This record gives sequence, C-alpha cells and structure tokens, in this order.
Amino acid sequence: MKDTCPSCTARDIVPAESRRRGDLVVDGYQCPNCRHTWAVTRDLTAYSELHARRAERRTRRTAA
Ligand SMILES: [Zn+2]
Repeated sequence: MKDTCPSCTARDIVPAESRRRGDLVVDGYQCPNCRHTWAVTRDLTAYSELHARRAERRTRRTAA
C-alpha cells in the first residue's frame, strides 16, 4: 500500500519491503526524494473491505 513520506510529504511511495505477521502487515518504506525511512504496521482486519480478496484467499481454509 502506498504511503506519504512523513518527512518531506512526497506521495505515493511504494513499500520497499512488506512483512506479514499474522493479521499484521509491516510495510517498510524509503523515500526516493529525501531518503527518509519509516515503517507502517497495518491490521488487515481493519482493512477488511480493501483487502477482501486477499483476506478471502488467506482464510479460505477456515471460511464458513
Ligand atoms: Zn521524503
């Protein structure tokens, strides 16, 4: 998921890396403009609509 640089407010920065921990996804970013690095942790359950397809695939084995 794209994010905005908290340092220089450059937009649409794509994650340099994404790591999943259960229902959490940690996206690591490096701004190409100012080289600032940061990470954003997202709870997939809070983005159930945006990630419906991904969540559906992920939980297929427990789908009711
Ligand atoms: Zn920046």
